[in-house]
Amino acid sequence: MKNKGITLVALVVTIVIMLILAGVTLRLALGENGLFNISKQSVEKYEESVQNEEEELDELLEELKHIMPEEAGKEVEVPKAEKDKWDLTKVTPTADGKGNTIPVPKNFYYVGGDKDSGFVISSVSGDDLNNSKKGNEFVWVPVKVINDMVMCKEHTTATITFDGVNFSCDGNGHPHTPNKEYLVGQLYTPTTDNGFTAGIPYTEYNENIIREPGLTTVDTDENLSNFLQTTSNEFLQELQEEFYKMAKSVAKYGGFYIGRYETSGLNDGEEPKVQSGLVPTGNINWYTIYKNSKKIAQEGSNVTSSMIWGSQWDYVLNWMQDIENPTLTEEKKYYIMDSRGMGWYYGETGNNEHKTGIDLIKDGKVTNKEKNIYDFAGNFEELNMACSGGTVRALRGGSYKLEGNVRPACNLRLVRPDAIYEWVSSRVTLCINLNPGE
Ligand SMILES: [Zn+2]
Repeated sequence: MKNKGITLVALVVTIVIMLILAGVTLRLALGENGLFNISKQSVEKYEESVQNEEEELDELLEELKHIMPEEAGKEVEVPKAEKDKWDLTKVTPTADGKGNTIPVPKNFYYVGGDKDSGFVISSVSGDDLNNSKKGNEFVWVPVKVINDMVMCKEHTTATITFDGVNFSCDGNGHPHTPNKEYLVGQLYTPTTDNGFTAGIPYTEYNENIIREPGLTTVDTDENLSNFLQTTSNEFLQELQEEFYKMAKSVAKYGGFYIGRYETSGLNDGEEPKVQSGLVPTGNINWYTIYKNSKKIAQEGSNVTSSMIWGSQWDYVLNWMQDIENPTLTEEKKYYIMDSRGMGWYYGETGNNEHKTGIDLIKDGKVTNKEKNIYDFAGNFEELNMACSGGTVRALRGGSYKLEGNVRPACNLRLVRPDAIYEWVSSRVTLCINLNPGE
């Protein structure tokens, strides 16, 4: 702290002296080198040193939190950086036991894990990592930089930032606020041939390749009135609105929750569930999954549920990109690239009903719950919100019908939204709600 500004004692002495002098004569204070300018400089220097001290104290406190973290699941204070962002009527700032604070939506409960291993919450109090209370369980996906998940349609290389209220895009010399027509998903090149090129997004938004939010050519007025009681135009606007709100929530709270299990109970008239030991809903088309995934979030709750967006799936892949697959001997042995042995695939016995959340154990270790998320590879293939230029929407992850090198976690296939396959299901995500007008 040496030589940084002036000390508190020196400042007090200065002020006292100045007050005495001011009482004697005010004329002195008005000159160029008068007391007024001198005291102004002192105050500036003092403020500077206070700020430096505060920053150093904050850093020290952050380090202290990591050395002596609060007990996992305990309600803690909002981190300083999030103070103006998090709405404490919607979330409870909760310690992960490793010095991190996670926003847990009200009416959800901490179950186990931490930010890096996967912080798990449940809709039922007293639930655990075995889901024995049968709540719907979700895992926090921390998103540090929102620009890794979204981009501006017209300036895809520009930086998107969030100031707590609005996005801004510093696109090509004409900065602007991307509204809901301009904000799109950052989607990555996910083929096993060229490697999962994480960090290299599509550089241009193109109506002919995979993108979101958007319509397929199958999303006709006829299909939409049939499956979702809406029209093409209204549906596009709905998707844009939902994507924009999701992105804002992720930026505001620094992440989103992903379903810990593939979704079951998605048929009309059923209760959708994100629980272990159930068979995910197959033989169902994209439209019905889209509609009923929203029912996971109870009416009037602090969260919105949705079929997972393509950019959310890709963000999770990025989060998992360094996880190695110990069952492989090949040089390229990353889990997301080749998921053999790390999911319920063809040839794995013991889960012939294809239930989700069933432990696959290799060498005494559960291999199908990376980041505490079950069956991200393997079991059912999972539809998401991304679409292509033609008739199709994105289908990701593994399939019990095939092997883990053919259908790894990064697998991307495309299917028509009106088609049904017995091994195709989906997964939901939760976002913390914004306030009206946000
Ligand atoms: Zn832009």
